[in-house]
Amino acid sequence: MSTYRFAALQDFWHRKPVEISVSKDRASRFAGNVFNIKAMQSALPGDALDAVKDAVKKGSKIDRKYANSIATAMKQWAISKGATHYTHWFQPLTGATAEKHDAFLEVLRDGSAIESFGGSQLVQQEPDASSFPHGGLRNTFEARGYTAWDPTSPAFVMGTTLCIPTIFVSYTGSALDNKTPLLRALNALDEAATQVANYFDKSVSKVNATLGWEQEFFLVDASLALARPDIIQAGRALLGHSPAKGQQLSDHYFGSIPSRVLSFMRDLEDECIALGVPLKTRHNEVAPSQFELAPIYEEANLAVDHNSLIMDLMDKVAQRHHYKVLFHEKPFPNINGSGKHNNWSLETDTGVNLLAPGTTPTKNLQFLAFFINTIKAVYDNEELIRASVASAGNDYRLGADEAPPAIMSVYIGKQLTQVLDELEKVTDGKLSPEEKTELKLNVVGKIPEILLDNTDRNRTSPFAFTGNKFEFRAVGSQANCAKPMTVINTVVAKQLRDFKNEVDFLIENKSMKKDDAIFNVLREYIKSSKKIRYEGDGYAENWEKKALRRKLSNHKTTPEALKIQLNKKTIKLFEEMEIMTEAEIRARHEIEIEEYTKHVQIESRVLGSMARNHIIPTAIRYQNMLIENVQGLKAIYEKDFKDIAGEQMKLIEDISNHITAINAGITEMIEERKDANKLAIEERAAAYNEKVRPFFETIKYHSDKLELLVEDKLWPLPKVREILLL
Ligand code: ADP
Ligand code: MG
Repeated sequence: MSTYRFAALQDFWHRKPVEISVSKDRASRFAGNVFNIKAMQSALPGDALDAVKDAVKKGSKIDRKYANSIATAMKQWAISKGATHYTHWFQPLTGATAEKHDAFLEVLRDGSAIESFGGSQLVQQEPDASSFPHGGLRNTFEARGYTAWDPTSPAFVMGTTLCIPTIFVSYTGSALDNKTPLLRALNALDEAATQVANYFDKSVSKVNATLGWEQEFFLVDASLALARPDIIQAGRALLGHSPAKGQQLSDHYFGSIPSRVLSFMRDLEDECIALGVPLKTRHNEVAPSQFELAPIYEEANLAVDHNSLIMDLMDKVAQRHHYKVLFHEKPFPNINGSGKHNNWSLETDTGVNLLAPGTTPTKNLQFLAFFINTIKAVYDNEELIRASVASAGNDYRLGADEAPPAIMSVYIGKQLTQVLDELEKVTDGKLSPEEKTELKLNVVGKIPEILLDNTDRNRTSPFAFTGNKFEFRAVGSQANCAKPMTVINTVVAKQLRDFKNEVDFLIENKSMKKDDAIFNVLREYIKSSKKIRYEGDGYAENWEKKALRRKLSNHKTTPEALKIQLNKKTIKLFEEMEIMTEAEIRARHEIEIEEYTKHVQIESRVLGSMARNHIIPTAIRYQNMLIENVQGLKAIYEKDFKDIAGEQMKLIEDISNHITAINAGITEMIEERKDANKLAIEERAAAYNEKVRPFFETIKYHSDKLELLVEDKLWPLPKVREILLL
């Protein structure tokens, strides 16, 4: 009897929903554990409060002289919420979050103790962080890394710890985290977008990028997951026959949420409320055991932090409910994987969504300017955008018939396509008054506030306009949103900066009126970015061919996709926009490519050991039972035994063939690994991709065949159909 699997199943059968008591008054508890402006208002002296407000609004530095009083107020507030420790909470290049807790408690010389936390502890720390990936940005002899407070993301108390969101930089100021470049990109975007918005409304003084993410994930029972080395170590099932009933009946999607899961969700939501994460929706996803959570959108930096925070929190809350959360992009073959749609837009400090069609021709011209510039930015940087979502896990999801393909394209819907087609016909040079009136009334003025075709939008597009925002759907479930958000905001900032220069040039040198100049530049952009627009089925085979003719990239694997990061144009872009230096870019590339290699290496090792330690011995045991059976039949039937034992003998042979194939596959795979390990970084990643990875499929194929042959009772690993039960 296979003890692990059986024990896990027994555990699972007896598991009941965890009783939780959630507070009823959610609204008044919202952000109760967050030291936001509201909490500061009653805790801080006026001038310190103003300094924080300025830092949040304008990105100005907080004068050191306020740091002490802010720290003291923060400490008092945190202790009143039950905190005993504090930590600088940051996002190193592992993609996850990091924290090192320090107690407030300090023992004085006379043996008494005080709770201490001063300005210097708030503003800057030097965590012993030499083991975080740095891609060569730090030498061991100056391994120091500093964390510095990011006042635009408020501190919060989680459990008994005050968490202070920080950036993480090296001794020389190089970014060692995901937040620093994001903040720089958001700044660049603010600057460029504000200038363009001022063509239409002089009162705009700040533009924020907004992000509303939708987090997909799988929940599996912890006991069953623990009996699967692949799920625990690699985050996905490397072996296991797909269940007869997967998602083909679509009976899970939006179905009623199982009570155990609901208890988990409510518990999670309750934690999120206190932490000010505005969760709005929860529902079943397409695949069995798959779910989605989405908050109300927020300013992008905060939304990124909240996504990292919630992923952490989900792991913790899941433990209480005896679940394991799988964030892998493709945890089980043949059913849908998990993504994290990034809904993105631009919002002014006057409260206007710049990507929402308006009610007047001027508002609509403003909308069109931002809309068309975004499309142009995506076209000019499609490869870089693809690279921003590249990961070993996402390679199994992109283009897998449920997620957008690896080809970047923009969907805008029929109505807006018509508008752009009309605008494309605008006369070159100055417009006649009649033409302008006609344009304003009948083209720009006719854009409805609600776009009908965007309510039933094309779900196969990686970058779809969905009525008042773009939805970037290629982001993987495990990803830190900071990566795609940094790239998107950078390329749009650069595009808006170019747009402003071109429009100003026409105004100043061709004595064009502002509107004429805008129409002229937009017309050219519509023409030159047409190839990125695709309204058809992104899953269709002929789209790949069409895209190839359009010269759009189609990088199916991470090592190919990441190459663009070191391209001259990329380096120039990031340097010019002051997002990253060449050294920072190269370091990140190195980390990402190494991370890919390590993932494939871990999967390969886990697969090898599972196949040899779990699958083959089980197959041999069953084969021995068959051999015994055949020997028995031979003793009874003597010469005629073959007529009666033929099928068993065939089984014995089939089992041997599968065992041989698995063993040969593992041996060869190990040889390929050894060869790959001798290569330099880039070649090593390519070798893991092209030479090591192909064995996964062969080994899985033969192991899955054995799963179908071997007696169920002997099978040691929880089967996929069992793991997907909830
Ligand atoms: P789905 O894509 O699953 O159909 P929705 O259309 O409801 O779901 O997606 C809504 C998502 O878009 C939510 O996460 C929401 O926060 C986000 N969203 C809505 N408006 C904006 C905006 N202006 N900026 C960024 N995100 C937004
Ligand atoms: Mg969506």
